[in-house]
Amino acid sequence: MDQKAPVLSLPTTPRTLGFFVDGKFVDTGNRHLFERLSPGHDAPVSRTVKCTVDDLDMAVAAARRAFEDGRWSRIPSVERADVLLRAAQIMRRRAEEIAYWETLENGKPITQARGEVEGCASMFEYAAGQARSLHGDSFNNLGDSLFGLVTREPIGVVGLITPWNFPFLILCERVPYILAAGCTMVAKPSEVTSVTTLLLAEVLADAGLPNGVYNVVTGSGSTIGQAMTEHRDIDMVSFTGSTSVGRSCVKAASGNFKKLGLELGGKNPQIVFADADLDDAADGVAFGIGFNTGQCCVSGSRLIVERSVAREFERLIAAKFAKVRVGDPLDPATQVGAITTLAQNKTIMGYIAKGKEEGARLVHGGEQLDFGRGYFISPTLFGDVTSKMTISRDEIFGPVLSVMPFDTGEEAITMANDTVYGLAASVWTKNIDKALNVTRRVRAGRFWVNTTLAGGPELPLGGFKQSGWGREAGAYGVEEYTQIKSVHIEIGKRNPWIS
Ligand code: NAD
Repeated sequence: MDQKAPVLSLPTTPRTLGFFVDGKFVDTGNRHLFERLSPGHDAPVSRTVKCTVDDLDMAVAAARRAFEDGRWSRIPSVERADVLLRAAQIMRRRAEEIAYWETLENGKPITQARGEVEGCASMFEYAAGQARSLHGDSFNNLGDSLFGLVTREPIGVVGLITPWNFPFLILCERVPYILAAGCTMVAKPSEVTSVTTLLLAEVLADAGLPNGVYNVVTGSGSTIGQAMTEHRDIDMVSFTGSTSVGRSCVKAASGNFKKLGLELGGKNPQIVFADADLDDAADGVAFGIGFNTGQCCVSGSRLIVERSVAREFERLIAAKFAKVRVGDPLDPATQVGAITTLAQNKTIMGYIAKGKEEGARLVHGGEQLDFGRGYFISPTLFGDVTSKMTISRDEIFGPVLSVMPFDTGEEAITMANDTVYGLAASVWTKNIDKALNVTRRVRAGRFWVNTTLAGGPELPLGGFKQSGWGREAGAYGVEEYTQIKSVHIEIGKRNPWIS
């Protein structure tokens, strides 16, 4: 018999967690706490500390000590890999708990959160392999008297600043790579989704990570995030968030010229040719904008579709949207959960109003859904969108899809590139020539052909243009957290300068 899985219940009291420095949770005592309401239920679920800059300094000092004394940075890579593999095992054992807290704070469906935790464990396993295969280069072609080596060294103390849309997934797309490289770190999660970043501290400690290697400071972006990017004793900051805050990170980092990894916004095209399997493409495009309520940096929010099939394709998408199950994030049947914050809900509804005002044709959705609690918006489809309209230019970060028809492949490529962003793109066609042409000419760091949002630890992430600097994950992701040193070795006696 097909039994419906039960809807999980809310915690009876909010969970209170201190921040984490040098292997210990710091007591919350009489500290100022930030109380988080579940965006799907309007109920308080967690309390975390509003840390001060002194707390950050303490965490950076712990990470610095741990880096300099070599307890992690200089141990054999096999030992680092063992810790990462154990962490993956522990994460799988605690997957249900981690997914539950991710859903409570972020509002994403519980089944999606479970899938993400599994993906995170896999990331740790992959990075364990990277730890062991990280290597430099040698030059045996410099003549009889000189031998050259290029060695890789961990970059040092890394500050990691993460957003609220995938709190645990984005964390785990970075932490194992930072650790695989031999760095120590201080993480600062978004103030609204801090719990799972703190739970990772428990997982890593249980896996045997030495104290001081992974530290977490909670609090606001304007205080802790800003101080982190300005900090003179942090060697690199990996920042994931909006392009506007990314810009302020570039200015703040100039004090000690720290390296920056920037993973920023996107306004990603989905190009659909008339020869695509339209029903499959419609399902993929609906998923690409509905997944995580469109609060996804790589959401395909611009639908660039061949004019001859544009109306038919709109109807297919509208029919898919009508069937999407929006609802309680704790219900395993839910496909699309809550908008993560009240502010983001207002932003999305503002863009929907703007789309109507500027003359776009509302084909489906556009409503605030009333379930008696929480913030929910129906998947929304606009037709007749032009490249001048605000909804086709700004990153909305919500479930809003804009249809823009094209006549020729050249025109599709020009439209796809008509944005300041360059994070991701998808193309749907049965013609390999068209697929390759588009893939090679659209400027985006991640590309999908006849699919979207697929991925794993092997393939790096990152953007072109104003979508960021550098790459996370994959072999490139580990290398970002290293620096290289050229070593010149004289063989035999030097040719004297003064004879
Ligand atoms: P945000 O930029 O407001 O915040 C991101 C993080 O930066 C948070 O931890 C925040 O506290 C912190 N922060 C805020 N002000 C800061 C400052 N002055 N200095 C340093 N840190 C500061 O972004 P958000 O609203 O949390 O997330 C949504 C944005 O993130 C979207 O633009 C989205 O595209 C982007 N994003 C990008 C990727 C990617 O991989 N490219 C992934 C996820 C999200």
